[in-house]
Amino acid sequence: MAYLNENYLKLKAGYLFPEVGRRVKSFCEKNPAVANRVIKCGIGDVTEPLPPAVINAMHQAVDEMGERETFRGYGPEQGYEFLRNAIAQNDYRSKRIDIADDEIFVSDGSKCDCGNILDILGDKNKTAIPDPVYPVYVDTNVMAGHTGEADESGAYSCIVYLPCTVENAFIPEPPDEKVDIIYLCSPNNPTGAAANKTQLSVWVDYALKNKSIILYDAAYEAYITKPGIPHSIFEIPGATECAIEFRSFSKNGGFTGVRCAFTVVPKKLLASTTKGEFKQLHPLWFRRMTTKFNGVSYITQRAAESLYTEDGKKQVRCLIEHYLGNARILREAITNAGLKVYGGVNAPYLWVKAPEGYTSWQAFDKILQEANLVITPGSGFGSKGEGFFRVSSYNSRENAVEAAKRFKQIKW
Ligand SMILES: *Cc1c(COP(=O)(O)O)cnc(C)c1O
Repeated sequence: MAYLNENYLKLKAGYLFPEVGRRVKSFCEKNPAVANRVIKCGIGDVTEPLPPAVINAMHQAVDEMGERETFRGYGPEQGYEFLRNAIAQNDYRSKRIDIADDEIFVSDGSKCDCGNILDILGDKNKTAIPDPVYPVYVDTNVMAGHTGEADESGAYSCIVYLPCTVENAFIPEPPDEKVDIIYLCSPNNPTGAAANKTQLSVWVDYALKNKSIILYDAAYEAYITKPGIPHSIFEIPGATECAIEFRSFSKNGGFTGVRCAFTVVPKKLLASTTKGEFKQLHPLWFRRMTTKFNGVSYITQRAAESLYTEDGKKQVRCLIEHYLGNARILREAITNAGLKVYGGVNAPYLWVKAPEGYTSWQAFDKILQEANLVITPGSGFGSKGEGFFRVSSYNSRENAVEAAKRFKQIKW
């Protein structure tokens, strides 16, 4: 008899996006006359095509693969040196952050890395996760058996939830108790909040004092517009001794369909054995990657490298400005409609307070019925998301302008 991993049975069925899909489908069937008027403002996926620098680099890499002299088979599992060097140089060393090329591990996505990192961490850790947040952090801990069952609100036992509320400007604060692993996501999905230097320093101090590790997801780093907001946790002194950083080319270069990301594991980062001996995590992650992963395709890594050329950087700026322009248009319209809007300045997401008396799903239904717009109910990201909804700026300009107009027409 074969046994299954019962931790998977504890997972709440993937509810949020299927339920959004079900409600939209049912609305369209009942209202065929307006079905093609529906605009999606809920998606966490880019809409604009790849930058020309990327297309050129990919074409060239494909040609190399077609010639005997330049063909490449398996590459280094942790990434080609040309890309690790471009990342370490451009994202870190040019900003006076001391990260070596071999502290960069190239992968096919941050989502996988955020989940896979649990492979090298012990299962006795007490883990703190913000609420609301990207659901991957909680679900991968459930799968790994780090939690008990979920209660009726969807909260799992053995996880310390860090509330992100209006009162703390959606930036979580260290808990009173001692935790070993802390997930932080800044700029944040779904709230759009970005932590400043002081707020991050509080966490780094906490982690150094308690010998905890921060898992820092900076997938939206490129959207930071305000000076004084760190682009990397490693801008905070001491962070190379207590943090792992996840970065992705999905939201800056538009690589959600191409697939390339990287994780920074500093060599100074140590964790304890159960006997109390501190050891480096770097060789464990190296071993994990070389054993369970065979690297990102050469073509994709050349594409990622091109984002660091002069043309590539300009083209990424254009993409970001496009989405942040949409965010500005939507933010202004929803604010003018009398709603309280957070985020959308250093992030592509707006986090909107539903008017008094509306739950997240009630707001969803009203916006769909009256404006034919699809948003994402905040309650789907955690219990503290109840009463909010997320509006995404991933859209064409035309759709963003039209959606903005319709938000103003809703009678709350
Ligand atoms: C989109 C996103 C990522 C990127 O994931 P990839 O697997 O690299 O596409 C990571 N973290 C968060 C919070 C995201 O929203």
